[in-house]
Amino acid sequence: MSSSSTPVEEISKIREALVKGFASGKTKNVQYRKEQLIHLGYLLHENRDRFVETLATDLGRPTLEADFLEINGTISEVQEAYKNVEKWSKPESPPFTLNWFFMRPKIRREPKGVVLIIGPFNFPLWCLLGPLAGAIAAGNTVALKPSEMSSATADLIAELIPKYLDPEVVSVVKGGIPQTSKLIEYPWGHICYTGSQRVAKIIGTAAAQSLTPVTFELGGKSPVIVDKSADLKLAARRILWGKCANAGQICVAPDYLLVLREVEEPFIKELRAVYNSYFGANPAKSDSLSRIISPQHAARIKKLVDETKGNIITGGEVDVDQRYVAPTIVRDVANDDSLMSEEIFGPVLPIIPVDSVDEAIKFINSRDHPLVLYIFAQDRKVKEKVFASTNSGGAVANDVVLHPAAAGLPFGGVGASGSGYTTGKWGFNTFTHFRATLDVPGWLDKIALSHRFPPYTDKKLADLKKVVSYKLPPRPGTHAVTASKRRWGLWTLLALLAAVGALLKKRLGSS
Ligand code: NAD
Repeated sequence: MSSSSTPVEEISKIREALVKGFASGKTKNVQYRKEQLIHLGYLLHENRDRFVETLATDLGRPTLEADFLEINGTISEVQEAYKNVEKWSKPESPPFTLNWFFMRPKIRREPKGVVLIIGPFNFPLWCLLGPLAGAIAAGNTVALKPSEMSSATADLIAELIPKYLDPEVVSVVKGGIPQTSKLIEYPWGHICYTGSQRVAKIIGTAAAQSLTPVTFELGGKSPVIVDKSADLKLAARRILWGKCANAGQICVAPDYLLVLREVEEPFIKELRAVYNSYFGANPAKSDSLSRIISPQHAARIKKLVDETKGNIITGGEVDVDQRYVAPTIVRDVANDDSLMSEEIFGPVLPIIPVDSVDEAIKFINSRDHPLVLYIFAQDRKVKEKVFASTNSGGAVANDVVLHPAAAGLPFGGVGASGSGYTTGKWGFNTFTHFRATLDVPGWLDKIALSHRFPPYTDKKLADLKKVVSYKLPPRPGTHAVTASKRRWGLWTLLALLAAVGALLKKRLGSS
């Protein structure tokens, strides 16, 4: 729990200040948004070392992981928003159509208003201040609710935000269930929630009462297929890193492996070799391994490991008080094993052998859509088959964990792993209302628009039908399709002949 939570009775005042801030109109000014984004960038830059420290306190996070996986990524989000906010917020004209052109149709990008961002413990900066960059760029005022579990980082965020940002634009509410429960009683322009599926249902139910739109950034069990065509050394190296970074507490960590039986033995041999090179004989002494967020979470993982019917081939030790879980590889895991019952969210890697890629695809498709699906294969056809026959938030071949940081790509889940997106332009769009506008000149009534007015007559109806006409394409498989294809073929031929004719004429004319 945070050292000092925001008193629940103060939440309405915090919200009122944000409502006032939005009503003042200052966030409609793109230059003002850019100023706030610069301040946010400097908040992160000037306090890097302090964030490295809080991440070490909360999660035992090694500096390299704090820098590489979290702080850099968050600064990149701020930078991208800063660089593009003018372009992203420009009104856009839809494609030209004669019927609508004179009504000056435009899509205006408007802020949604006062929005709420709720963060998880495992990436307490990236999952909170990354979406914040999108929300500020889109012109909203924002209430931030960091996770009480990563309390050192939450305290630092709460200390720094009022120093760097306009308090009428961004405010922090510290605390846990009582504070979040109060926050979600209010209507918001948008709620961006990152966390577990269980709590997402609570947030969604409350948001439905005020018809507040919600983005869900959730998790689940993200599978990895290791095909027989995979580079096994590379697969072992990348998968084990992705599973153990932040002690497995990453929403896009590989959750379990489906390994083709033919390569299971050599792959496990590679995994063992990598394991030793990463963590040595005693991983508890390694300074490259984060800790589990709390003894309760460590105890949850211990139970999953204790109850597995698979064979533990490395690791298995858990020290609940020290929040330590040894990187653990478990083979011969069955579909109904304890390790397959929930998102593991710890450095425990179950291996399920499969006879074919088709079996792996069937296995994945029988479960909820994962946040991400990984395939290790060199055979292009296998990669394409896996991508084409499954559904997931993202899909990556031959690497893990990196894709949320890839510039320009949307990051989000599908089905039970979430809905909506939070990175880059996609994050900006999440917090933006696409407002359709028309500006209709009076003279249009003289041409066509007066036909809609009573008294209705047959002539008006006939005239309207001419203006608002449509033509469906022929039904598939009917004679008309064949005929229309033939017609298109004829037209293409005629156009080609005309082009060749024109070319010849030009040539002959110039010679
Ligand atoms: P959590 O759901 O326990 O907590 C998230 C937030 O909800 C916290 O701020 C917490 O205070 C609040 N909360 C907790 N219980 C609540 C309740 N009963 N009522 C109202 N609010 C409540 O999630 P967590 O354990 O912090 O995060 C881990 C989960 O988040 C994992 O499932 C992980 O996969 C997922 N995650 C997803 C992403 C993503 O971008 N898709 C990123 C990080 C984490």
